[in-house]
Amino acid sequence: MRIIVQKFGGTSVASPEVRELALRKIEKARDQGFNPVVVVSAMGRKGAPYATDTLIDIARSAYKYIADRELDQIMCCGEIISAVIMTGMLQAAGMDAVMLTGGMAGIITDEHFTDARILKCDPTKIINLLKQGKVPVVCGFQGMTGENEFTTLGRGGSDTSASALGAALNADIIEIYTDVDGIMTADPRIVENAKILDCISYGEVCQLAHQGAKVIHPRAVEIAMQKNIPLVVKSTFSEAPGTLITNIAKEDTGGSAVIDRVATGVTYLTNIVQVKVHLDDTMGTDASFEVFKTMADNGISVDLINIHPGEIMFTINADHAEKASIKLKRLNYEFEIVEHCAKVSVVGGGMREVPGVMASFIEALSRNKIAILQTVDSHTSISVLVLQSDIGAAVKSLHEKFGLSN
Ligand code: ASP
Ligand code: MG
Repeated sequence: MRIIVQKFGGTSVASPEVRELALRKIEKARDQGFNPVVVVSAMGRKGAPYATDTLIDIARSAYKYIADRELDQIMCCGEIISAVIMTGMLQAAGMDAVMLTGGMAGIITDEHFTDARILKCDPTKIINLLKQGKVPVVCGFQGMTGENEFTTLGRGGSDTSASALGAALNADIIEIYTDVDGIMTADPRIVENAKILDCISYGEVCQLAHQGAKVIHPRAVEIAMQKNIPLVVKSTFSEAPGTLITNIAKEDTGGSAVIDRVATGVTYLTNIVQVKVHLDDTMGTDASFEVFKTMADNGISVDLINIHPGEIMFTINADHAEKASIKLKRLNYEFEIVEHCAKVSVVGGGMREVPGVMASFIEALSRNKIAILQTVDSHTSISVLVLQSDIGAAVKSLHEKFGLSN
């Protein structure tokens, strides 16, 4: 049996006209000999009557402190409504479609309501339906605890549902349908000549997603990667081939495709502050430990960490700035907080062991008089902390410098 998982995001199921386009994609997969498993998100974006954000607003406007467990029960309604409507449409088109909640589809999670992790995905029910020629339509974003309580998988979690099902079913391919033609080399609102990538590795797309690109949920990529199942991000609204996410390698080392580019994309994260804690000689390493332990104890995650004899620098989310500042003051540290920062990153599986990548990076920024507040790199990415007001210039100049604009 050739199985394809086809996930349709909120904008791909938002109206009857758009759902017709989704239907075409499902019919096409069937014509090609695939058994489709459809996964849907809630209909529309913020403001639409049954969108996830709307449901959260309904609950929160009534009771601000509604518990996560209860919030999950209302959030699940969005995907249930969407899956019922989609199933109805497929049935009207002559398909034997069957609506399933995440739990019915076999997705069992822990009890971390609003951000549950999948513990197990039992594909038995779906396999039985497929054997009978039926088309399962599964509510994305949902799971169920061992106690049969609805959970959700974190915002954007329908991608994760699609990957978990794809992995459990050993699908040939997982298609993620959205309203753009694929994954781009940069945010097109900043870089006019940003391009759609034909193909990208699992690792690169995870990095892009973690570094701010709103492409696909990184957890979905990690799950597909474990079973080496290709993912394709493509548009419901066009016939463009989309971006294939697969196991690509720089040399032909057994990856499904070979790349010869140094950089794959440029991305950015906002809402960051830089914390600089001054240490005097007498304080030693105990002080560094105390600072980071304080952040950890207060649930503040730190990034871009540099530890020098006289100073510790790190970044945190701006929402935690006040809390961090109160705690450091209480411990009598001398510190400074630089507000309105952004992290701009160049990601590329091909930059490993290529000399001069850092030099090009710095050259692009210094030519444009962009102040570098901090840097960090890995084998497959270089990131820099800049002021938020420099994001546009930084992203544009790096995109150009690394040949992504050609
Ligand atoms: N509807 C959920 C959300 O808005 C899940 C998803 O669309 O992936 O986060
Ligand atoms: Mg999404």
